Amino acid sequence: MGSRDDIADVVIVGAGASGGAFAWSLAEAGFGVVCLEQGGWVEPRDYASGRADWEIAKLSYMHPDPNVRGLPQDYPVNDDDSPITPLMYNAVGGSTIHWSAHFPRFRPSDFRVKSLDGVADDFPMTYSDLEPYFDANDRINGIAGMTGDPGYPDKSDRQTPPVPLGKLGETIARGFDKLGWHWWPSDSAILTEPYDGRAACNNCGPCELGCYRKAKASSDVTYWPKALAKGAVLKTWSRAKEVTVGAYGLADGVVYYDADGRLQRQRARAVVVACNGVGTPRLLLNSASGRFPSGLANSSGLVGKNLMFHPYSIVMGVFDERMDGYMGPGGCAIMSQEFYETDLSRGFVRGYTFQIARSSGPLNTALGGLGGYGPVPWGAEHHRVMKERFARTIAVAVIGEDLPERHNAVTIDDEMTDDHGIPAPKISYTMSENSARMLAHGSEKATLALEAAGAKEALVNPLLRPAGWHLMGTARMGADPETSVVDESGRAHDVENLYVIDGSILVTGGAVNPTSTIQALALYAADRFKTRARR
Ligand SMILES: Cc1cc2nc3c(=O)[nH]c(=O)nc-3n(C[C@H](O)[C@H](O)[C@H](O)COP(=O)(O)OP(=O)(O)OC[C@H]3O[C@@H](n4cnc5c(N)ncnc54)[C@H](O)[C@@H]3O)c2cc1C
Repeated sequence: MGSRDDIADVVIVGAGASGGAFAWSLAEAGFGVVCLEQGGWVEPRDYASGRADWEIAKLSYMHPDPNVRGLPQDYPVNDDDSPITPLMYNAVGGSTIHWSAHFPRFRPSDFRVKSLDGVADDFPMTYSDLEPYFDANDRINGIAGMTGDPGYPDKSDRQTPPVPLGKLGETIARGFDKLGWHWWPSDSAILTEPYDGRAACNNCGPCELGCYRKAKASSDVTYWPKALAKGAVLKTWSRAKEVTVGAYGLADGVVYYDADGRLQRQRARAVVVACNGVGTPRLLLNSASGRFPSGLANSSGLVGKNLMFHPYSIVMGVFDERMDGYMGPGGCAIMSQEFYETDLSRGFVRGYTFQIARSSGPLNTALGGLGGYGPVPWGAEHHRVMKERFARTIAVAVIGEDLPERHNAVTIDDEMTDDHGIPAPKISYTMSENSARMLAHGSEKATLALEAAGAKEALVNPLLRPAGWHLMGTARMGADPETSVVDESGRAHDVENLYVIDGSILVTGGAVNPTSTIQALALYAADRFKTRARR
């Protein structure tokens, strides 16, 4: 166990997207910050994106599913009871090592779905409350994009021009134009010009394998160097087992396994949990005690409940001409929000975004490509089908709003544990009827767009299975302690010096990739923390 004089102002658990942002904000203001991260540093020049075997890496040691990857820093997840597999990365930078850096913000309506549509709950703040934090987060990450998108209130200037649309983006944009539908170059957390000491993107493609040029804004190359320069202490290979609580019901530290497998204790005046939508409820539920028998901060019974993924369907258009979509940032070209807002005549509430992703390299094309359409046949037909598909496809991903439902949950598995013997999480998730109708509508409209763009064939995957990129909602925020776990500043209703600041606190999931909003919320929470601490 650690010594008694080693008391941090704040101990943060998790050095990912939100943990990095919070640590930087507090360290810069002079707070004593210690962060415990179960993984280590990954040296950008070692990222698989810069290696010849990158396509194999994607299927093995850089697979986004921790159950497949099985690295020492990973913990197992029982996902037998879910059609969607949770995906993540465990290291300094967290899942932003893996992310595609598609960077849309939640739209103003996402903060008010109860008021507008009578479903779920409103966020305890509005888009305009969060706007300065969106902007501050953009400045640290460096965002490629273009102002003027009619789908959003005016934004501040983007730091660099948008990522190139490429032949693929231009082609599908013509399809949207023919139909008179909205589209806009995606905001991407990927530099297209040098910025803040980082190099520009070279359009090599596999961003999800880590960006060896540091053009992609993973928090290990954005927030963490700045936080460390301001005195934050980052303890890697340190896996939190439980948050401990003192005599007055206040959090007083975190018990963790260090790199040598020894149990240590980090004492702190405040504890901040940033382990993502699966890791955070796992840690809180594993921190049950005599005072908090059903898990820490869980008097509402909502820790682990309301798990939201974004269910995805994907339609792949096959074209006669080459689209060369294996070049350019994999997850980012353009997006369309034509069907974002509620129109009940469509048969569902809320809506979806079309995210135009690029296509795969040769090995992954042969294995079925992004949409998982089944492998290109082996034998006589192989070359014909391969020639038809490789570099000649456009994938339109339909990313649908996933409203919170109590039965979609992270609980603690009865038997499974990680290498340290800490109980593992179990996922139970059923896609709602509303989501199913939304994705069916989206697949139909995506097919129309691809046909308008000139596709000769459209292959529909109605539900992408290994698509749990976005882990949200399992410690939701709100004003009412009976219907939420934390307040608007991320502070637990039950424990006044315990905070949650990651994707778990989202009230609803929106219909866009969530990380811009998650990091803005982390900065918002950090400002409120500082104000309270100074008082
Ligand atoms: C393949 C992939 C592609 C994605 N693409 C996009 C995209 O294009 N756009 C977008 O917006 N989002 C994308 N995402 C999602 C994005 O990465 C997440 O939304 C974001 O990283 C979540 O931030 P977080 O802080 O909640 O958690 P994370 O970034 O996952 O960080 C959690 C950290 O906590 C650590 N941790 C967990 N438990 C413990 C413990 N017990 N002790 C110590 N440390 C612990 C983990 O090791 C990890 O480093 C993608 C994700 C994946 C996997």
